[in-house]
Amino acid sequence: MTTRAYGVHAADKSFEALEIARRAPGPHDVQIEIAYCGICHSDLHTARSEWGGTRYPCVPGHEIVGTVSAIGSDVSKFKVGDTVGVGCMVDSCQHCAECAAGFEQFCENGFTGTYNGRTPDAPGHTLGGYSQRIVVDEKFVLQVRHPREQLAAVAPLLCAGITTWSPLRHWKVGPGSKVGIVGIGGLGHMGVKLSAALGAHVVAFTTSEGKRADARALGADEVVVSRNAAEMKAHANSFDFILDTVAASHDLDAFTKLLRRDGTLVLVGIPEHPHPSPNIGSLIMKRRRITGSPIGGIAETQEMLDFCAEHGIVSDIEMVSAQDIDKAYARMLKSDVKYRFVIDNATMA
Ligand code: NAP
Ligand code: ZN
Repeated sequence: MTTRAYGVHAADKSFEALEIARRAPGPHDVQIEIAYCGICHSDLHTARSEWGGTRYPCVPGHEIVGTVSAIGSDVSKFKVGDTVGVGCMVDSCQHCAECAAGFEQFCENGFTGTYNGRTPDAPGHTLGGYSQRIVVDEKFVLQVRHPREQLAAVAPLLCAGITTWSPLRHWKVGPGSKVGIVGIGGLGHMGVKLSAALGAHVVAFTTSEGKRADARALGADEVVVSRNAAEMKAHANSFDFILDTVAASHDLDAFTKLLRRDGTLVLVGIPEHPHPSPNIGSLIMKRRRITGSPIGGIAETQEMLDFCAEHGIVSDIEMVSAQDIDKAYARMLKSDVKYRFVIDNATMA
């Protein structure tokens, strides 16, 4: 069966309409009519092969929400008409220790990404949510419990939400924690909302003077424009935890210096070019840590979605048509996103 999609044929090409194949639902599969799909900076990195290894044609999109239109004979968790989501993974080995523990993102045999992952389906690699329909094993489909009218703004939770939620939970952020969120884009604005909802004292770090008021409205207790050395210095040695979502190479020392003893800087941004090596003295003298975190497991993605539904949390979005994906990418590169672009997939018809 074919479905309409938007993709690119090479790293330097613009998005265009494509007809792609989707498999008929197998016994464990859920077929989903995609209503909306968020635009993640990883989509841009991949479409332009900034990380290398992109397979073309490339159809990005891993912040998928929509409605179940068919189910396989053995599907037990979903029925036709359910409102569902799909995030960054569509499969994993399901038999290694990590999968058994609910950490599919750490699958020892490699999870299958929602796009650019190897698959037996044509054309040999997965094609993502910039499309009208997708077929996914039920184990990788999430229930969406938000009101239906919020659906477009739920889409970004499937990547921006879980990628910030997972480290916040792993490092036990909550009341009493002083948390920094660096880069107020798609991931960063969710990091601010989620850490505020978890009860932390939240400081937003932005390079954009114009985001000061917005960051407060998103839930930050304080906002620091990171280009301003005096504002940065005022927070020296004070953070338990800093989440860095910046999509470009930058100086990490500016942030490690702000950690207290045993504080943790978690990198989730994956820039095309490496960060300059951090100052090791600064790490040693206060036993500070720099680490990273990838997306999140399926069970914790459902936990995050349910937490957000319960607390009325969604993403702040700007809806775009499929024909404007290139324009959205250009604005994303200028940090001009308030705070996530979401494609209205009905515009692909
Ligand atoms: P985004 O919406 O473009 O946000 C990135 C933000 O970083 C910008 O809005 C900007 O915020 C700041 N920024 C951009 N360029 C900068 C520069 N040169 N110096 C300092 N700050 C800069 O991107 P996103 O979708 O949130 O994704 C962020 C990164 O996370 C990407 O690299 C993406 O691939 C990665 N990612 C990783 C995972 C994972 O599993 N670890 C999952 C999803 C995405 P201000 O205007 O506030 O400075
Ligand atoms: Zn993403």
